[in-house]
Amino acid sequence: MAHNVCLIEGDGIGPEITAAVKRIIEAAGVSIDWRPVLAGVSAVEKAGTPLPPETILAIKETKVALKGPLATAIGKGFRSVNVGLRQELQLYANFRPARTIPGVKTRFEEVDLIVIRENTEGLYSGLEHTVVPGVVESLRVISEKASRRIAIFAFETARKYNRKTVTCVHKANILKLSDGLFLDTVNEVAKDYPDIELNDCIIDAAAMKLVMDPTQFEVLVMENLFGDIVSDLASGLVGGLGVTPSGNYGADVAIFEAVHGTAPDIAGKDLANPTALLLSATMMLKHLGEMDAADRMEGALLSVLQNPETRTGDLGGKLSTSQFADTVAEAC
Ligand code: NAD
Repeated sequence: MAHNVCLIEGDGIGPEITAAVKRIIEAAGVSIDWRPVLAGVSAVEKAGTPLPPETILAIKETKVALKGPLATAIGKGFRSVNVGLRQELQLYANFRPARTIPGVKTRFEEVDLIVIRENTEGLYSGLEHTVVPGVVESLRVISEKASRRIAIFAFETARKYNRKTVTCVHKANILKLSDGLFLDTVNEVAKDYPDIELNDCIIDAAAMKLVMDPTQFEVLVMENLFGDIVSDLASGLVGGLGVTPSGNYGADVAIFEAVHGTAPDIAGKDLANPTALLLSATMMLKHLGEMDAADRMEGALLSVLQNPETRTGDLGGKLSTSQFADTVAEAC
């Protein structure tokens, strides 16, 4: 039976890379009934808003969406579409794997980390005000409820991906109440997962350890701002944002997307590399229970990337987006 999945094609290179990914998913033998929905600049043009309510309703129905990159809509009153999607769909967990990709040059070999970022509170709660002229306060909110659900997500992820350890990254030595609550809650949740070892590491030390030897970590869990920074740091360890997939999960809904933007400089030229979106799509297939097809698709991608001749231009190869998609599809 076909899976129902919403598709946000996105702006810039979005339509090219989503077309490539759809073609490869089909070649991997997974049947998807794609439901195209609008968001971003194309939505402003067609529906007068970057995030039409129909888009939210459709994603609530299908519960799964694949999303291309969105250009930031310029104009007063337009909030960020990514923040809007996260809030309206309560996507509380950001999941960012960072894995060495053969053929993509980095300083490290065999990096295989997962960064789990709490997506709804911390300094991103939007609570900012001017106390007196020249003095501004931004409130950093940490709740037991949100800390508990992200901790459970991290331990469940460790189990699902056969990892032995979870590391809680924090600054509880200084932020004694807020990060103290986060760390205590993760420690509490750990008691329900005796098969997984819990470590903890202060954020500054974690940053140093990650750039010195990222292979010492498996699953990292942290609050919003630390997660925002550390997830990009982890991407840098494996070749940058261009090859980094991500998933945003809520209780009922999940959205999968590449981490890079719309690449306006190469849009419409059949030059974009669909690798990051394709890796996001393999995560989506696993979420849909299509484990074999996901493995096949990932295996095909990695084998194609191993040959310098069969890469796209950004990775030093000669293939166009569509030629690359054909090559990966044939290898599936
Ligand atoms: P960008 O990621 O679009 O581009 C940075 C550089 O990387 C460019 O040279 C681009 O050509 C290259 N690049 C990016 N993706 C590539 C791919 N798949 N294949 C080959 N080359 C690729 O970043 P930017 O230029 O800072 O942002 C452009 C627009 O994208 C902005 O409007 C920004 O707000 C938006 N953006 C959206 C998202 C998202 O929707 N998740 C994320 C980041 C940026």
